[in-house]
Amino acid sequence: MTAVADALTADIDTAAALLASAHDVTLLAHVQPDADALGSALALGIALRRRGASVRVSFAEPDRMPESLRPLDVLGLVVPADEVPAEPEVLVACDTASIGRLGALAGRVSTAGATVLIDHHASNTGFGTHRIVDASVEATAVLAHRVLEAMGEPLDAAIATCLYAGLVTDTVGFRTAGPAAYRLAATLVEAGVQVEPLVRRIMDTHPFEWFAALAGVLGDTALDPDAAAGLGLVHAVVPAALVERFRSEEIDGVIDEIRGTAEAEVAAVLKQVGPRRWSVSMRAKGRIDLAAAAVALGGGGHRNAAGFTREGTPDEVLADLRSALTPDRVSDHNPISAAGG
Ligand code: AMP
Ligand code: MN
Ligand code: MN
Repeated sequence: MTAVADALTADIDTAAALLASAHDVTLLAHVQPDADALGSALALGIALRRRGASVRVSFAEPDRMPESLRPLDVLGLVVPADEVPAEPEVLVACDTASIGRLGALAGRVSTAGATVLIDHHASNTGFGTHRIVDASVEATAVLAHRVLEAMGEPLDAAIATCLYAGLVTDTVGFRTAGPAAYRLAATLVEAGVQVEPLVRRIMDTHPFEWFAALAGVLGDTALDPDAAAGLGLVHAVVPAALVERFRSEEIDGVIDEIRGTAEAEVAAVLKQVGPRRWSVSMRAKGRIDLAAAAVALGGGGHRNAAGFTREGTPDEVLADLRSALTPDRVSDHNPISAAGG
């Protein structure tokens, strides 16, 4: 093993020992939680609850669990953010690139007795007393699985399903998975994951009215071939009316519809979250560093999947985005590792 791998293993062992002896554990996902953040938190939470600890899982916003992920919470561990203790005994932040991504719960990092950070973002800023951060793995779920292994916790179907949900979504259906992630997937399926209904519910199910709305969004999608140092930018805008009317499962799927544009290295979706406020999702194909571009715009993420939130008109936000897709962020094709959240 390399020195880096040794150090990660030591970090995992230390955190596993801390969690194994904790009586009360609060696991947090990032704001607007996805399957990797909630699946990792719930997998660890289920195991800790079964060991006898008091456990809760939460996130600052929105105030409801994403509908498609609710079945992951078999023990009812998810609680509203206002039920998170003011001074948690042990806090675990999952899939969280920076403290700010905890939203209104960010302050718990300083009041907790200990904070374990488990994350795979290239842009991770590092916080907490215990850090398990590895930007080379495809999903935080991979690291959560290693913590469970170090704790000696057996995989059951409920835990395996939570981990699989994170793995399959962050690899966009295993498109970007390496051999170790495929081996983990086999282990999880052997533990009892019912793959087809799980993936259909999370990635492939939308209300009928969505398709007409999506057609409108796609009809207004625009291509800017000169942007991103001539590699091309395709962009779509989702107005607040649609963000409010549909679930995150619909809105966050728009990027997957346009990222296949042959003429564009970069795809961006501007989701309106306030009168002048936009949450922007970006995807690339390996030739430009979106994590660096997103950090320059106040956000974060991975090389090929990143995001930021910004104020302005759509044209102003797009101008900011174009100015961040600079030639120095372009390089030869890089193998895609993490490509999701
Ligand atoms: P998304 O497009 O929402 O799936 O996000 C892609 C990646 O960018 C994920 O890893 C997110 O954690 C990250 N990301 C998205 N929005 C932000 C933001 N406002 N600040 C920091 N990171 C973000
Ligand atoms: Mn995520
Ligand atoms: Mn992730």
